[in-house]
Amino acid sequence: MINNKTSSSVRLSNVQKRYGDVLAIDNVSLDIRAGELVTLLGPSGCGKTTMLRMIAGLEDATSGDIFIGHQNVTHQAASYRNVAMVFQSYALFPHMTVLENVCYGLSVSSKMKKSEQKKVALQGLDMVGLAGFENRLPSELSGGQQQRVAVARAVVLEPDVLLFDEPLSNLDAKLRRHVRSEIRQIQQDLGLTAVYVTHDQEEAMAVSDQIVVMQAGVIAQMGSPSEIYEKPNSEFIADFIGDANVVNCRVLSCNNQNAIVELNGIQLSTQFKGSPSKRARLAVHPHDVSLTEARVENSFPGEVLNATYLGKHVEYDVRTDAGELFVVDHQTRTYFQRGTSVHVRIADDKPVLLPTA
Ligand code: ADP
Ligand code: MG
Repeated sequence: MINNKTSSSVRLSNVQKRYGDVLAIDNVSLDIRAGELVTLLGPSGCGKTTMLRMIAGLEDATSGDIFIGHQNVTHQAASYRNVAMVFQSYALFPHMTVLENVCYGLSVSSKMKKSEQKKVALQGLDMVGLAGFENRLPSELSGGQQQRVAVARAVVLEPDVLLFDEPLSNLDAKLRRHVRSEIRQIQQDLGLTAVYVTHDQEEAMAVSDQIVVMQAGVIAQMGSPSEIYEKPNSEFIADFIGDANVVNCRVLSCNNQNAIVELNGIQLSTQFKGSPSKRARLAVHPHDVSLTEARVENSFPGEVLNATYLGKHVEYDVRTDAGELFVVDHQTRTYFQRGTSVHVRIADDKPVLLPTA
């Protein structure tokens, strides 16, 4: 039986990784609670894979310590760590059937009898929706199905930590959504600790308990998906996570929770974190900007530079005196053509006043 067992926490303490002159990970400390799925999110080259491989034991830390549960595994070889990894490329053995692929890991790492291995493997395949596919070769499966086999192969090992490195990158958009919710469900059902790497912010939002946003080898911000989205702590996060517009504003007043700012002649109440100077930067999500033809209260003028109709919404680039704004408008019945003069409104209470560096 695949157990609903308690999996382990993971802790990184002042971990550094150098490749020659490249400082890939710069003194990172991180706590991952048992049973949670934590995503390492960030642009290509920021160190996500390096972090994951160090947790797996496939890469040595240059300095610092890594703990799985209470055990310091920093100098422990990969084969002694009870971790399993799912790769972007599936990494299935092409000459083995689906069932043999899933049994393989069990035969290497456990003393299970062959009949028991088969039973557990079939259970794993059932869990990922592949009951009945056990005798096929990987080449006889779609990409999504192959990745499910890889997930089953990892899950049957009952790892202390399950690691995913961009597992959906080779799948098309629709399948990606499907497989990601399956992964999330299995992880939650089994209470597995998982570390998940992606560069896709929507995917990170969809699967994570906590998101660790990385930038050039350091943690830029960690929090739940809603914290990261609604309370970005820097321009980098605001831009990377929410495609937010970041504009200059003047702080008129503030307390711990809110601030009143002036922006291009209008006054707005904003969310606030940190200690602003008088001139500050404001993050405004594209959904919180609306356009009207008629002048309305508390708006400023703009000109539509670009309009893209996408069915569910229209995306605009609008030139204003506050700078160019990216706008996502869900009202699609009528939309503004390029060159139209519009009035721009920003939803009150929504923008976030960013801490000044
Ligand atoms: P990500 O997974 O976020 O795209 P990586 O962890 O793969 O980033 O890489 C982080 C940095 O470390 C990059 O600058 C990359 O070029 C460098 N790097 C990764 N692996 C090696 C290696 N084996 N040798 C030298 N540099 C490496
Ligand atoms: Mg990578």
